[in-house]
This record gives sequence, C-alpha cells and structure tokens, in this order.
Amino acid sequence: MKTSIRLWLGILLSVLLLPALPAATLDDATRQLARDIFKQLIEINTTDSVGSTTVAAQAMAKRLLDAGFAPEDVKVLGPNERKGNLVARIHGGGGALKPILIIGHLDVVEALRADWTSDPFQFLEKDGFFYGRGTQDMKVNDAILIASFIRFHQERYRPDRDIILALTADEEGGNFNGVNWLLQNHRDLIDAAFVLNADAGGVTTVKGKLVNVDVEAAEKLYADFQVSATNPGGHSSLPVPNNAIYHIADALGRLEHSPFPFELTPITRAYFEKRAPLESGQTAADMKGILQTPPDAAAIARMSADARFNSLMRTTCVATRLAAGHANNALPQLAQANVNCRILPGHSAEEVRQELVRIFADPEVAVRYATGGTVSEGAPDAKSFPPILPPDEVLKPLARVAGELFDGIPIIPEMETGASDSIYTIAAGLPSYGINGIAIDQDDVRMHGRDERVRVSSYFAGVEFYYRYLKALTSGQ
Ligand SMILES: [Zn+2]
Repeated sequence: MKTSIRLWLGILLSVLLLPALPAATLDDATRQLARDIFKQLIEINTTDSVGSTTVAAQAMAKRLLDAGFAPEDVKVLGPNERKGNLVARIHGGGGALKPILIIGHLDVVEALRADWTSDPFQFLEKDGFFYGRGTQDMKVNDAILIASFIRFHQERYRPDRDIILALTADEEGGNFNGVNWLLQNHRDLIDAAFVLNADAGGVTTVKGKLVNVDVEAAEKLYADFQVSATNPGGHSSLPVPNNAIYHIADALGRLEHSPFPFELTPITRAYFEKRAPLESGQTAADMKGILQTPPDAAAIARMSADARFNSLMRTTCVATRLAAGHANNALPQLAQANVNCRILPGHSAEEVRQELVRIFADPEVAVRYATGGTVSEGAPDAKSFPPILPPDEVLKPLARVAGELFDGIPIIPEMETGASDSIYTIAAGLPSYGINGIAIDQDDVRMHGRDERVRVSSYFAGVEFYYRYLKALTSGQ
C-alpha cells in the first residue's frame, strides 16, 4: 500500500481511536441556566475602550442574590465606575482549611464588527458552535463559575472550606487590573490557600477528539516594545534616503526571519514527553526528535511550522501594531510599531529588548519597553515566575473528574504561552494553577481573534466539569 494512503489511514485511525467529547448529563433547567448566563455575559461589552466590567459584575451579582446568596457574600467593587470586580463567597464547613480562590476576568479584547462574520457582542449559536467575543477567552468560564455557584446554593452544598469567586477587570489591557487591585486593597476578601485560574489550562482536542487535559504549571512573560524611527521629514516630492518608514519596515522584515533560539524548559520537556505518545505519524516522530540530545534540527523546523508548538519551543516576538506619517504629501517624521513578545521562563524583558536591538541592527531604530501607557529606555530584569507543579490535593480530584468526563485522558502540566493574572496571585504568595474544562481544538484557537467560538458540546461539558471538580476538591473525600 502506497505510503501516503498508509499514512492517511494511520491518521484517520488515530483520530477515530481518540475519545470523543462526552455529551454532558445536564438536566434541562441547568442547561438553560448555563446558556442564559453565557449569553448575558457575551452581550455585555467589557472592552477597555468603551465597555464596563462593572455592568457585567453587577449582572452576575444580581443572579447570585436572586438565587438566594446573602448580600454580605456578594460584592461589586473597584477603583472606578467602569472597572468593577465581583467577589462572591460560599461558606464552608468552618474547619481549619483556608479558602480556595477562583479567578477569572470579565474584560475581553477589542473586537471590530467589520472584521467579524457576526456581531461580536451578539451571542450566536450556529453549526454546533456558540459565537461571540469571550466564547474562548474567557466569559465561557465566567458563566460556568456563576452557574456552579448557583447550583451549589440551590442544592445547599456545603464544602469543607470556603470557596471564593473573583471575576475581575483589566486582565487583557487597561490600567486597573482587578486581581492586583483586590490584592492591594481588599486582600482579606480573597485570601486563600491556593488559587484556581480558570483563564488557563483547559482540554486539548484535535478535530473534536479528546487528547489531554492541560494544567498550567508555568507561564511565558509578557512584554511590549515600542520600535520607532524618526526623521526631519520634508516635502514628499523630494524623497531622501533614510525614510523613517523604511527603517521600521526593514527592521520588522529582519524580525520576521529571526526566530529566537529553540529551548525546552523542564515543564515543556515533560509536556512533549507526555504528548508524544498521544500523537501519531510525523508529529509523534518530531516530538521525539526535539527531545533528543542534541535535538533533531529538521524536527524543530517542522514543529516550528505549527503556531502552538512553536510558541512552546522558544521566545516569540511579533509586530502587532504599526503607525507612521502625518500627511500623504509629507515625508514621514515618525514611524512606530508595537512588537509583542512572549518570553520563556528564565529570560527577562531587558534581555529580549537587547536581542531585538541586535536583530534590527539599525542605530536609527529605537527599542523601548512599553507598559501601562508609558515607555522606558530599559526593560525589567525580572523573569517569569518559576514553574509550579500542582500538588496531589489539586491533581487527584482533577484526575478523578477527567476520568468521569473525559475518558481518563492524561493530565499534562504545561507552560501557558499567553499571560494571565496568575502573575499577581503568585507574586502575592498564593500558589496558582490554571485549570478549566473547556475543550478547544488545537488548530481552532481564536482567542483575541475574529469569529471567536466554542463548541456547544464543549461548553456544556465545561459546565459539568467545574461543578464536579469544585465538589471533588471540597467534599473532603
Ligand atoms: Zn484571558
């Protein structure tokens, strides 16, 4: 049989053999509740530019109060009227155990109507998917957590410790990060033994087939750099060499072709060691190849072609915004770009800034560190937080629930390539683990992008996941 047919047959069989997403066993009332909350949240604009997390927090607070929560256990508070945070508490058995804190952010990344097929702030169900801004990141899990809290209250569930839910502002951008603000101003309200961050982790699927459960154990460092070139300018009928736009264009062209070096950390090495047996064909072979010493260069090259794997194997820097010129008929006096970097643990933003200067190789191009609306010549030397492997207390209940809901697929500690609010909770001394039950196809990650969506079946499986997981964590069994 010709290799290609055999290869395709192999892939087909392996996908066919992968377990499918379970049909969640939710009763109609719970299903409807979870869907209504999700729709309500998606249709509240919580972007930094024009939205309000206060409106979303108040809407969720009303749902909890209507469900019977005591007013003293449901609070909406924040630094100003648009940046409100919700903090809600379920009281436990009053034992010695410190509470569990669950964090999630209510804000979403900007979404331009013109870029989308449907209105990003209209909840749409189509072809087995829910569409809308936040269906992956992360109103999907905000809705799930509110639904879980209401279910616990309705059935008078008493956990063996308090469970605190904080749904917050400005994780995606803006100047009023809610987790940081709560830690600074209301630590008593959210103090806990450990934190579950529903904005990280999740379930990896390939074409709808279950592969593994991800648990965040490490995170890349986020950094923005302002890359700029200036020039005296002049009349555009008298073009001169040294055009500011060309300096930036050439520099970005060099960046495009200068990937940062391949590097595995203890977490990503363990991740690929566990993922390789779940893969087949070339991908499986390449995963083994990059784990060799020295790693197989051809395997690295092939794996780098996959955005997800590439981001796990190196620091990445990409141009995300560009602006230049002040008039069509004038030579540009300023050309400026934003370069967004995701830095491997063990490396600092200043180290990467200097590497960018080296890559751009142009004294006309300035590279400054940009954060919170300000820029500085140098960048911090701080590195990402050291890896945190979840303890058995967190992993064992997870394995049990994954066994019940996801056919016992393996749980793999991973490095998140995106940044999350765990940087604040970990810096405040609260061990934090990225965990949620939403399955997203590896090649359908639409976070921050257009036509963001989640499978309907994945949503309802995720609803059941957190309900069972929180019970497994707090039922003292
Ligand atoms: Zn997020």
